[in-house]
Amino acid sequence: MPFDLASRLAARRVEHLYRHRPLLEGPQDPEVVVDGERLLAFCSNDYLGLASHPEVIRALRQGADRWGVGSGASHLVIGHSRPHHELEEALAEFTGRPRALLFSTGYMANLAAVTALVGQGDTVLEDRLNHASLLDAGLLSGARFSRYLHNDAASLAGRLAKAAGDTLVVTDGVFSMDGDLADLPVLCAEARKRDAWIMVDDAHGIGVLGAQGGGVVEHFDLGLAEVPVLVGTLGKGLGTAGAFVAGSDELIETLIQFARPYIYTTSQPPAIACATLKSLEIVRREPWRREHLNRLIARFRQGAAAIGLTLMDSPTPIQPILVGGSERALRLSALLRERGLLVGAIRPPTVPAGSARLRVTFSASHDAAQVERLLAGLDECWKLLPEESPCPRV
Ligand code: PMP
Repeated sequence: MPFDLASRLAARRVEHLYRHRPLLEGPQDPEVVVDGERLLAFCSNDYLGLASHPEVIRALRQGADRWGVGSGASHLVIGHSRPHHELEEALAEFTGRPRALLFSTGYMANLAAVTALVGQGDTVLEDRLNHASLLDAGLLSGARFSRYLHNDAASLAGRLAKAAGDTLVVTDGVFSMDGDLADLPVLCAEARKRDAWIMVDDAHGIGVLGAQGGGVVEHFDLGLAEVPVLVGTLGKGLGTAGAFVAGSDELIETLIQFARPYIYTTSQPPAIACATLKSLEIVRREPWRREHLNRLIARFRQGAAAIGLTLMDSPTPIQPILVGGSERALRLSALLRERGLLVGAIRPPTVPAGSARLRVTFSASHDAAQVERLLAGLDECWKLLPEESPCPRV
């Protein structure tokens, strides 16, 4: 039967892979009302607690008063206004790159950068755990596409040896489902040996990593020569919406001239750019947010290890608990929810089969007592979870 959507949906249910959208009744905060229930949430990417910061909200409101709501057009027509421009300058300075280019989402920034840089006859090499938008970008580009083993320089080197044309190595800066960092100094060295370029998608590191919040490139002290293409998103650590690509003047001009996901779309509302400018100011002026976050992460890791949970090698606010099968992950999430705790279960195809997990994320707006509540809930629920053969590390 053509378009047998009912069967496809039924199969998703049987495999415990059906996805549900929790309905939120307020702003991003640790305490939220979801689907009518008051819960303590550990699943937002609002890592610094800026999404509902009063100064950011005020900047958005004032931006709307001054610039209206819709941007009216694409950047190249008449949708590139002063706040967009100022934000691009601020992001360039923040990342230590000559220029930055603003996008409405990280998904689009990734599609734009990869497809503008490589095409038929070229090669794109990606970490096998890269975010879906990077994998989609690689496939869309038409370049020869290959995935190397996670964070594995030898595997990358093998693929680089067989690459043809311009070669782009693409990696998450912080892996979104594991929380670990790309081993950038080593990966960059491999790429340089073969004149390949590295593109880093630092969606989860911007604002969070580095002494000034400059992200994974600040953490490893990598300049333009090592990482010529840097992508950051604004809807996570910075608490607003959108994304940017930062790099040389030539890179940015190339994107403006050739990147279809940049050219053929309406620019983000200028008031959002006003809000992000305020977020950047707060990221710089309030390092306590990163320090507090790091204390919460350290306490969680220590407490979770004491319970016997399997964590991953993550120094970031993304702290997954490996569970194994999808059904088991859903069960643990449901048990926690019965105790007022909201933690999302992440299942294939988002993560490899057999590595379903609870993706715990922390925010600077959590307090120490809330982390203790989570640990107490996990201690109780983990014991109630039926046994499964030890989950494989993939
Ligand atoms: N890259 C990574 C690593 C991500 O985790 C995400 C979002 N989950 C994106 C890109 C896409 O960013 P956006 O949500 O702004 O489209």
